[in-house]
Amino acid sequence: MPGDLIDVLVPVPLLEKFTYKVPKGNQKRKLKRGVRLKVPFGNRILIGIFWNYSDSSKPKRASYKFIKEILDEDALLDKALLDLADWSSRYYHYPLGEVITYFFPPSLRKGKEAKFKESTYWKVTDKGDFFDLSELKRAPSQREGLVLLREKGDLSQKSLRAYGISSVTLNNLYKKELIQKISLEQLPVNSHRIEAIDKKKLTSEQNISVQAISGEFGNDKTFLLNGVTGSGKTEVYLRCIRKLVDQGKQALVLIPEIGLAPQAERRFKELFGDRVASFHSAKNERERLDVWLGAQRGLYDIVIGTRSSVFIPMKNLGMIVVDEEHDASFKQTERFRYSARDIALYRAKLSKIPTLLASATPSVESMSNALNGKYQLLTLKQRATGADLPSFVPLDLKGKALKEGFSEQLLEEIGSELNNNNQVLIFLNRRGFACSMICKSCGWISHCDRCDAHMTVHSNPSHLQCHHCEHKKPLYTICPSCQHNEFESYGLGTERIEDFLKKKFRQFPVLRIDSDSTRQKDSFKNYLKIIDEGKPLILVGTQMLAKGHHFPEVTLVGILDADSGIFSADFRGSERVAQLITQVSGRAGREKKPGKVILQTYCQEHPQIEELLKGDYETFIKKIIEDRASTKSPPFSFHVKLQAESFNGLLSRDFLSSCLDYLNKSQLMNKDIKTVGPLPSLMEKKSGVYRWEVSLFSSSRKSLHSLTDHLQSFLYLPKQTRKVRWSIDVDPISTM
Ligand code: ADP
Ligand code: ZN
Ligand code: ZN
Repeated sequence: MPGDLIDVLVPVPLLEKFTYKVPKGNQKRKLKRGVRLKVPFGNRILIGIFWNYSDSSKPKRASYKFIKEILDEDALLDKALLDLADWSSRYYHYPLGEVITYFFPPSLRKGKEAKFKESTYWKVTDKGDFFDLSELKRAPSQREGLVLLREKGDLSQKSLRAYGISSVTLNNLYKKELIQKISLEQLPVNSHRIEAIDKKKLTSEQNISVQAISGEFGNDKTFLLNGVTGSGKTEVYLRCIRKLVDQGKQALVLIPEIGLAPQAERRFKELFGDRVASFHSAKNERERLDVWLGAQRGLYDIVIGTRSSVFIPMKNLGMIVVDEEHDASFKQTERFRYSARDIALYRAKLSKIPTLLASATPSVESMSNALNGKYQLLTLKQRATGADLPSFVPLDLKGKALKEGFSEQLLEEIGSELNNNNQVLIFLNRRGFACSMICKSCGWISHCDRCDAHMTVHSNPSHLQCHHCEHKKPLYTICPSCQHNEFESYGLGTERIEDFLKKKFRQFPVLRIDSDSTRQKDSFKNYLKIIDEGKPLILVGTQMLAKGHHFPEVTLVGILDADSGIFSADFRGSERVAQLITQVSGRAGREKKPGKVILQTYCQEHPQIEELLKGDYETFIKKIIEDRASTKSPPFSFHVKLQAESFNGLLSRDFLSSCLDYLNKSQLMNKDIKTVGPLPSLMEKKSGVYRWEVSLFSSSRKSLHSLTDHLQSFLYLPKQTRKVRWSIDVDPISTM
């Protein structure tokens, strides 16, 4: 007989579960772990999660409040996901009540009903299958609709609309009994177009990978698929997923960025039709709820999504793919600082299914796990289309005059590629017009008042913007320091390059692709459409362009400033640069036309630039792994970072010192634990607050975690100062 006291997870930044009373009328019904409840909290009503019945020995305090409402009959998350939430909370040292909210789409978090809205799907009838198309001669749109459905198999009304078939047309076909309505449940599981899949003959490298992975369905094995750009990694996991779907199981495919969703979705839909869904923040609440509920019911074979999709319930999950596994976007860098890749690995372990990590530039962490045998390494060395990898050409800038960052030679090469009807990609990882605004007479520089950073000059509309806190200001007309009125724009940004190239190559379109130019919904999609047309043009872009895209007509990639990053203060700097340069280079020469990469650099002799020029990422990363091993930095030790921020740097520092004092009194602080700090963060002042940090390193994850647990008991003390905001980052990816 369940008691009347229950423990509830409430989305507040506190570690404990909260005790509530169940009203008499509801006591007979046994609550299932994971159901949503409405509970009073302070003077608010919050959506909590029922966790368990309180221990019967718990004293009955009069102060316990009654729950207001039980929102779900059945728990929306299964046991494996509740366990995953519990593990994530302990691993990342973040309150479970907040962690669990990540497992729900926004509308369920707000307490809305978990009701699945069926969309309409259409299917050709037997009559429609054999119907003589010439009879529809006078109804071309009906004819088109019927042909499409015959070719593509069953489709949703929405997909049909995307093909230009209206609902009127569909209703007319329906009246003629040529097509019929079906529900998503009736949409055949194996709706994939076998012929389309079998058309491509896999390369032998691809074959080996597919065999290896599909041989491990049902086991919690991790694969690292290291394949050069364009080697057909996607093709490999498409095949594996097809086998999985044949067994009635589903796949979750994580991608690093929303920008990659349309391309991935299109490719999957070609094969699996409407049993593919994608989940990301560009979808509205309703759409996200439907995908979430559909996935939970097993109505989708494949869910493609960004970081937070790792938490989506799937009825019979058979495999998780993490595409571009090295990408930093998989790590959330605020609040709940989780890595979707690492959570995927643990989820797979709990569900006893394989995980496939894929990348042309694997992370140091994954590569070293592959080298030490924890993961199985699968390698694709050849491009699937038979195209060669692009050749690298260093361009020594020493002593050369540059025009807006371009050497004469690079400009000539761009011109000749365009004249040969090819596309060119220019890479610079800095958006905006110029780095900063400088007074010509006294050297004053536009500085952000809120950060230790310059403000970037933007044109169209012209303004200054800080890229760290996004604070905006109009351009100065008078120097605040010497009252002169002549300024210079210092340094290059994508906008400036776009301007310059537009003037230089007037006959050709220049598309700038960065987070500013793609802010509007669908703008990125529209750019991709233009690129797909294949006409000669210049792409100017930041790292957004480096990721996973397939641009068959790009034959030349120009990297304006290969040196930035190599000399970064972060020990991950060189790994990042190598990944970025290899990835952006991989956009060149992906199909018939050979590709070339020109790297402008001032330090051609730098050993890391030299390695990169060989185009051999694997050797490069192995050297970095050796370095990390010799310095015992991650992944050869484990790292937890404690950061403190406040309006006064000394407060942040002193708070961290008191944390260290507390830790130093503990037995847990053994010789194996190394502490670094308190030190100001790389950018101490950001958005008006001063940030300091302490790092804890250990060769034992377990002892580091015990220590962090112990630290939490100090951090959450009620007497703790409210003037300092602190955060714990487990496996941090940057020193910022
Ligand atoms: P990656 O994911 O490694 O970048 P993709 O899977 O996108 O590579 O493949 C790159 C290109 O090669 C795509 O156009 C794809 O259709 C094509 N491709 C992949 N595998 C094969 C194959 N076995 N035969 C012919 N073309 C292939
Ligand atoms: Zn001045
Ligand atoms: Zn700022």
